[in-house]
Amino acid sequence: MTGERRLAGVAAAPGVARGPWAHVRRERPVGGRIAAGAADAEEQRLRDASNAAADALMALSEQVEAAGHADEAAIFMAHATLAWDPALIETAVARIHERGEDGIAAIAAAGADAAAGLAALDDELLAARAADVVDVAERIARALAGIPEEADLLPGPAIVVAEDLSPSLTATLPREHMLGIALEAGSPTSHAAILARAYGIPAVVGVPGLLAALAGPGGLGTPAAELALDGSTGEAVLDPSPATVADLDGRASRLAEARSHDLEEASLPPVTLDGVEVTLLANIGTPAEAAPARALGARGVGLFRTEFLFLERAAPPTESEQAAAYAEAVAAFGGDPVTIRLLDIGGDKPIPYLPMPHEANPFLGVRALRLALDRPDLFLTQLRACHRAASSGRVKVMAPMVADAGDAALLLDLDRQAREGLALEGVPHGPVELGVMLEIPSAVLAADAYFGSIAFASLGTNDLTQYTLAVDRGNPALERYRDALHPAVLRLIAMAADSAARAGTALSVCGEMAGDPVAALALVGLGVRQLSMGAASLPAVRRAVRGADAEALAAEARAALGDPSAAAVRARFAGLLAG
Ligand code: PEP
Ligand code: MG
Repeated sequence: MTGERRLAGVAAAPGVARGPWAHVRRERPVGGRIAAGAADAEEQRLRDASNAAADALMALSEQVEAAGHADEAAIFMAHATLAWDPALIETAVARIHERGEDGIAAIAAAGADAAAGLAALDDELLAARAADVVDVAERIARALAGIPEEADLLPGPAIVVAEDLSPSLTATLPREHMLGIALEAGSPTSHAAILARAYGIPAVVGVPGLLAALAGPGGLGTPAAELALDGSTGEAVLDPSPATVADLDGRASRLAEARSHDLEEASLPPVTLDGVEVTLLANIGTPAEAAPARALGARGVGLFRTEFLFLERAAPPTESEQAAAYAEAVAAFGGDPVTIRLLDIGGDKPIPYLPMPHEANPFLGVRALRLALDRPDLFLTQLRACHRAASSGRVKVMAPMVADAGDAALLLDLDRQAREGLALEGVPHGPVELGVMLEIPSAVLAADAYFGSIAFASLGTNDLTQYTLAVDRGNPALERYRDALHPAVLRLIAMAADSAARAGTALSVCGEMAGDPVAALALVGLGVRQLSMGAASLPAVRRAVRGADAEALAAEARAALGDPSAAAVRARFAGLLAG
């Protein structure tokens, strides 16, 4: 038994966690060749794997059907049938016998051939089936390689440990089993961290050497039996001593007390000492997060990240399914606005049914609204669903990754088509306010050219910081460069506020910056009056606003534009944080 070991990382989601750990990773099956004379046995292995995949897909279909998701159940059932499809399996069997490929290589090639054939037919429905075939072939390959599916990656309660976690894996791991998250890579603005905060799961990221330390010194020692983490300090402790355990348990109970205090304060108005009112809104990723956010005093949703509806499934959600999800959030907010963001995929958020060519720089590639040129159908369906949800409450819709006036015009045009279609078909729908996310510097610099045509804009400071400072939002090695309080980012925010005031366009901030009490003071000083954040941040930001003087914040913000560094700006506003 080795003593406790402490590793320093970056705080990513508050809370304390302690327990066994599980190294979660989704490996890719790697194909190869078989030895001479092994073809018959390999054929049998392939047939067994195809049966196992079909059985698992049928069980999954029954499970989601019982949970009331008939659409998804039908998709899994169709996949089960594909896993038995003779055309697919016999092609793979032939490759084993004729080319000496192993089952993994053979099924992958058979799936790719079938998909290419379907895609070449130039029929949208069949093209969607092409992605299904690839998906099923991959599942069979995983079965052959003995790679577990998500639900099997975390069979019991544990702290999830990984090099990094994709948003889709984070969203689909069984939440009730996730005691905490500890990652070697990642940053507080990476999507795994944002999701952890949304789910209330304590998390630390950017912990160098974590996996090797857990495996035991030099990979030769005994693996750590227990892991503890403090998501507020960024610390990970391997095999914590009894004294550390007592300390962490004390912190956990103080946190629980603070949470009940936060709920009591939720009805206090977020108004500065000199009477400036700030609207506090919530960022959500699923409709289920709406009610808890409202309980903490959110006056609406400033960012509904809808891509989590689109992840880890074989086909995009239908218009009705989306309309129901959006209407659920609208209903939970009873009259307060819900801002739905059109899907933002690509970058670090790929989806299986939308195969995209490899890009050297996906964050600078065909991401978010840029996909609309190729796939307007995805955006039209989503906009129609938004308008349908608007028949039951106040809905705002914003487009991500808008670069300039051309993109704003594209949004308006897609919206017009969606509205006209619904009207023509006599489908009940309501009005939505249209806006853009300001997360590309050019969108801010060119704002005067298009702000007059839209109702609102919301600063996505996670990406705005990434693109302004050339700092990959997921790279822990760049932590010292990442602070959104950098004077260069502040200057862009000040420009956006000026343009918004000139055009009469409402302006909010929905990046993680809005949920940081010190940064929130800077934003109020720059003239921002709407802040949207993960619900857990609402209490601290409310307290910060209530303890500040808006006039003093404005004077500091003007001065901060000339500061030499983010650290200097942070020190300036930290000094104004009450208490
Ligand atoms: C942002 O970029 O600030 C933002 C809110 O969007 P996301 O974090 O989903 O990219
Ligand atoms: Mg963004």
